[in-house]
Amino acid sequence: MRDAFFFKNNGMSYRIGFGIDFHRLSAGRKLWLGGINIPHHKGAVGHSDADVLLHAICDALLGALNLGDIGIHFPDTDPAYKDIDSKILLKKTYALIREKKYEIVNIDSTICLETPKIKNYTDDMRQAISNILNIQKDDISIKATTAEKMGFIGREEGLVAYATVLLEKNKE
Ligand SMILES: [Zn+2]
Repeated sequence: MRDAFFFKNNGMSYRIGFGIDFHRLSAGRKLWLGGINIPHHKGAVGHSDADVLLHAICDALLGALNLGDIGIHFPDTDPAYKDIDSKILLKKTYALIREKKYEIVNIDSTICLETPKIKNYTDDMRQAISNILNIQKDDISIKATTAEKMGFIGREEGLVAYATVLLEKNKE
């Protein structure tokens, strides 16, 4: 049983999680990404503020501890979550991770959208996420790519975010 020994060596326990989220884009909506409002002629459509990156990170955190998905914890049929700031959802998700005595080691993520260019905003996003999750900005990676004008992303009908997280159980 090399695996059990390897992953629980020195009383440490690691868990990896993956999350993905999609939203449609529409005129007349604000574009929230990584907790930051980005000026654009279209924004993401959703029950909450539709922050696709924060939702992907929430799903990755939940997935790492096999706690289900964001739809189970924050159903889009619940009026409590109508237009809610997704930073609040991330904060609530982080509380679930802490309840299980885990901390975040690092996050890697990619936002896939055609426009606008977001590289000037990723530093602010990393700061916003760092404030909520109690990790250093250096431990949060946010990358961006276009879809080379292909498909629904290329036509600017929607956007996608992917996130991977590593969690470490607190030493007791
Ligand atoms: Zn979402």
